[in-house]
Amino acid sequence: MAFFQMKKMILGWTFRTPVTTRYPFAPRKICPGSRGRLDITIANCIFCSVCAKRCPTDALVVDKANKKWHIDRLRCISCGYCVELCPKKCLALAGDHGIPTVTKDMETF
Ligand code: SF4
Ligand code: SF4
Repeated sequence: MAFFQMKKMILGWTFRTPVTTRYPFAPRKICPGSRGRLDITIANCIFCSVCAKRCPTDALVVDKANKKWHIDRLRCISCGYCVELCPKKCLALAGDHGIPTVTKDMETF
C-alpha cells in the first residue's frame, strides 16, 4: 500500500508545474498590495529636490543644474514618502519589479 502511495506522490510531483519561476527571464508574480518600484515621469519634474531631501534612505539625488534625477535602487525601500511629497505628482510606485542588479550604480533620468 505504501508503495502505491509513494508512486502516486512521485508521479504527482513529476508532472506538476514548478512553484518557482525563472526570474528575471520569466515575469515575477506581483503580490496584491505590493508597492513595487519607484518610477518618475521626468518630463514633469521641476528638480525642486523635495523628494531627495525627505527620502529616509538617501536613495535620491537631484542635480538641478544639469536637470538630472538619480535613484539608487539598492537603497530605495519603496516607502512611498517621496510620491506623497512631490509637488508635481511625477513620482509613482509602479507595482512591478525591476530587473535585478549586481552593481551599485545609480539610475539616471
Ligand atoms: S519632488 Fe518631484 S518635482 Fe521635485 S525633484 Fe522630486 S520628482 Fe522632481
Ligand atoms: S520610495 Fe521612499 S525610500 Fe524610495 S526613494 Fe522614495 S522616499 Fe526614498
